[in-house]
Amino acid sequence: MSEKCGAKCLITGTIKMKVAVIGAGTSGLASIKCCLDEGLQPVCFERSDDIGGLWRYTPEVEDGRASIYESVVTNTSKEMMCYSDFPFPEDYPNFLHNTKVVAYHRQYAERFGLLKYIQFKTLVCSVKKHPDFPRTGQWEVVTEKDGKKQASTFEAVMVCNGHHTDPHYPLEIFPGINTFKGKYFHSREYKTSNGFKGKRILVVGLGNSGADIAVELSRTASQVYLSTRRGCWVMSRVFDQGYPWDICYDTRFQTLLRNKLPTSTSIWLTEKKINEWFNHAHYGLQLRDSNHFKEPFVNDELPSRIICGYVVVKPTVTEFTETSVKFDDGSIEENIDVVVFATGYHYSFPFLDESIIKVDDNVNLYKSVFPKNLEKATLGVIGLIQPIGAIMTVSEMQARWITRVFKGLCKLPSQDGIQKDIELKQKICLKRFGKDYSLELDYIEYLEELAQEIGCKPNILGLLVTDPVLAFKLVFGPCTPAHYRLRGPGKWSMARKQIMTTYDRVLKPTRTRVVGTHENKSLSIVYGLGALCILSLLLALAMYTK
Ligand code: FAD
Ligand code: NAP
Repeated sequence: MSEKCGAKCLITGTIKMKVAVIGAGTSGLASIKCCLDEGLQPVCFERSDDIGGLWRYTPEVEDGRASIYESVVTNTSKEMMCYSDFPFPEDYPNFLHNTKVVAYHRQYAERFGLLKYIQFKTLVCSVKKHPDFPRTGQWEVVTEKDGKKQASTFEAVMVCNGHHTDPHYPLEIFPGINTFKGKYFHSREYKTSNGFKGKRILVVGLGNSGADIAVELSRTASQVYLSTRRGCWVMSRVFDQGYPWDICYDTRFQTLLRNKLPTSTSIWLTEKKINEWFNHAHYGLQLRDSNHFKEPFVNDELPSRIICGYVVVKPTVTEFTETSVKFDDGSIEENIDVVVFATGYHYSFPFLDESIIKVDDNVNLYKSVFPKNLEKATLGVIGLIQPIGAIMTVSEMQARWITRVFKGLCKLPSQDGIQKDIELKQKICLKRFGKDYSLELDYIEYLEELAQEIGCKPNILGLLVTDPVLAFKLVFGPCTPAHYRLRGPGKWSMARKQIMTTYDRVLKPTRTRVVGTHENKSLSIVYGLGALCILSLLLALAMYTK
């Protein structure tokens, strides 16, 4: 790549830059919209026959598309996970059943006229550099529809194929599994609890899937065991004063505290807060490594199922026999009928050559988006992240940035600069998460970084003078996607109102019975305290803008 390797503006006269978008899930739809916002010409290829990606539940597992169980409800709340200029309907609940998320995607696609840019039942088979790539940055994309292959040339590619499709299913590390006579399968195959009545079930792996499935099965099974290697923090959707957890957790002020304090102090505080709900050590869920962050998962019922004995937490599995399972504490559970491996997913880019992105558990993408060593930055990956916050919001921000890089309006640094940034991120990752590469990253820190590139990061210091109430909300309130529509490219005239009325929409679907003025009193106390907080605000801002 040249010293300034951002792609040159390829919009010449009326010819628009043609962009291939792979996949029509959350990330693909945001990408189409961002292409249109930037005057680019998107062509989206979706292998299935509809939009929505993983959110579209089907009773059968489909090849190449993520598969969810029927009961999936979001673990991030609607105010935090919406597209930044398109809120969820006000009467939708804070946490949404998958059917509502799909309905929302349809409303979004309709509102911005996205459907006409999507070619359904079209599989992207390969994406290769055009022979003239170093000069043009073009890509040759081969697609297949109804058995017919077609090659087309694109000026840029947005990779939105999702990363919850290929199961991480390491059967080889479980001695004896081949002799096990019961049924066993990966959580990708799990759809409903039908057929599991009265069974003795082991769920291996404690993430969101493992916890959801264990809880659901525990209502019909005779007993559920849940095996975890490292343990995990569990959070309830219902957080302080009953607000959604992310409304309380994902604020700039909280992020500032978490990131500026020494990691050990920050982890101690987080652990303390999380243990207020229930002591994880008492429930066998305590993290093995308490020196690093591990993404918590969200489940409201797990502690209750454990305390009632329907779910029993177990350590690492060491061996299966024909009918039993042994654990590394020496205990054995007999007469197991079913094992569900909720052991997560691998990501892959089957249509891309390894010279573009090498998936070896160590994908090093610049700002989690651009493969390094490309002569021209005309291909970006969207949604390959695991923040403690909504992936949807991050996908949209990435799409906003990428399309501006394609146009040459945002520049990338030199290869040296890219390498240095990757190394810096690895160091931070090692310190926070205990590994030098992880999809996990700090939600707000990352959004702010991309927003800075785009030019839509809110100017909090300036607002402190011109609009102090808004500034207060930006620092102490939930960092909702609309924060990034207040200024800069893509500015949305409704953004301020959207931010100021966040709590109204949070409460609207739950405050369905009129109940006096109790809340108003507590609100006035909060506002009273606000005056005191202004001092800390100034301090926070000074640190934040350093
Ligand atoms: P996907 O939704 O997986 O979409 C990818 C699309 O690409 C699919 O439609 C697929 O058919 C298509 N495709 C793939 N390969 C090709 C190809 N070669 N050619 C053509 N088309 C192709 N995130 C949150 O923010 N909040 C939540 O509450 C939340 N809950 C989740 C619950 C579950 C069970 C899972 C698995 C994930 C959850 N996530 C959540 C994360 C979720 O991954 C993101 O929110 C987001 O939906 C991902 O969208 P995507 O478009 O990147 O990928
Ligand atoms: P995940 O978050 O990757 O969790 C997989 C778990 O499997 C990890 O806890 C891991 O344990 C464990 N594991 C991996 N290999 C193992 C092995 N060999 N032996 C024992 N345990 C092993 O995967 P997921 O739960 O399927 O979630 C995937 C994504 O979907 C996440 O983004 C999640 O937030 C999302 N999701 C959301 C919802 C929801 O919104 N309700 C529901 C389901 C999933 P270690 O920690 O010990 O490595």
